Amino acid sequence: MNHKDVLVIGCGVSGLSCGIRLLERGWRVRIVARELPPQTTSDVAAAIWYPYRAYPEERVLAWSAVSFQEFLRLTAVPAAGTSLTTLIEPYQWPVADPWWWSAVPHFRRATAAELPPGFVDGYVAEVPLIETPLYMNYLMTRFQAGGGVIEPGEVADLTAVADQYSVIINCAGLGARKLVGDATLYPIRGQIMRVTAVPGLHAWIDERSDRGLTYIIPRQDGVILGGTAQAEDWNLAVDGETADHIRQNCVQLEPRLLDAQILEHRVGLRPGRPAVRLEPQPLTPSCTVIHNYGHGGAGFTLSWGCADEVVLLAESVIGER
Ligand SMILES: Cc1cc2nc3c(=O)[nH]c(=O)nc-3n(C[C@H](O)[C@H](O)[C@H](O)COP(=O)(O)OP(=O)(O)OC[C@H]3O[C@@H](n4cnc5c(N)ncnc54)[C@H](O)[C@@H]3O)c2cc1C
Repeated sequence: MNHKDVLVIGCGVSGLSCGIRLLERGWRVRIVARELPPQTTSDVAAAIWYPYRAYPEERVLAWSAVSFQEFLRLTAVPAAGTSLTTLIEPYQWPVADPWWWSAVPHFRRATAAELPPGFVDGYVAEVPLIETPLYMNYLMTRFQAGGGVIEPGEVADLTAVADQYSVIINCAGLGARKLVGDATLYPIRGQIMRVTAVPGLHAWIDERSDRGLTYIIPRQDGVILGGTAQAEDWNLAVDGETADHIRQNCVQLEPRLLDAQILEHRVGLRPGRPAVRLEPQPLTPSCTVIHNYGHGGAGFTLSWGCADEVVLLAESVIGER
């Protein structure tokens, strides 16, 4: 065993971002994952930069701010499928600025003309759009081009692999519930659909109004309409009634979607947790596991900030030996 051999469990956005950062710091990195892209939860996300259902706010804000800057840099790389989009969040009552606004360089209050009927307040933010079909492929390619190895497989017991690695990074998402027996981790079911493109749209998120969570995210391959956030719901099947409801809500918010054709439905289970778990835990005298899971509805938003912290922890682990 080389002291810079690291195993990353999981090939979603968390595992791949950590893997890339570790390679950049000279580690030899192997990813083992039960599901590979495009079959992970990460592949279901739309995605936009938005710190949603991830805690605690203070750590989430710091990680999100780091990722924001990295996504900005990636807008210069066409293969990464990242760009900036205008996001409007409308409210039916007056609201203060959101807790995350300081991470967003271009943030302002919405004007009355920008709000849909029945809404009185809101804000407008320029945020990264991360087109997951392109971005996940980009991360895989970048990781492998940097010398990283990806293997399909399930890790059932961390101690069984501990003698081969000085450090193991646990990026198993919701799978960590079984892998490390974490009963605080729970699914937050998200159902979405992709419809045909409509020119000139921007992104919307309406999280709080009486119609329930509604969001619209225009991409190159169509428009993502969402959604749901159903805690403790493990159902991965598409629900027809929910799909009708999502479509109606999105058309109310953006009437130009009325004639858009449905291209596909997707369901994913966000890894919900009262707090993101990012911490080291000694497994054996020669192996430490660094947990990095429980990112809720913000795995992309937190990805680079968390990856940087994982690398610092990994380096301090081997520095102490
Ligand atoms: C509908 C929807 C919309 C979303 N929109 C956004 C958004 O706009 N912005 C945003 O930031 N986030 C969004 N999210 C949340 C985001 O998708 C998740 O937070 C993120 O995907 C979590 O990534 P992860 O890499 O930690 O986990 P995952 O993507 O779930 O990856 C976990 C990996 O671990 C592997 N694994 C698990 N257990 C084991 C095991 N025992 N052995 C080996 N491998 C194992 C899995 O096979 C997989 O490869 C959305 C999610 C959904 C469902």
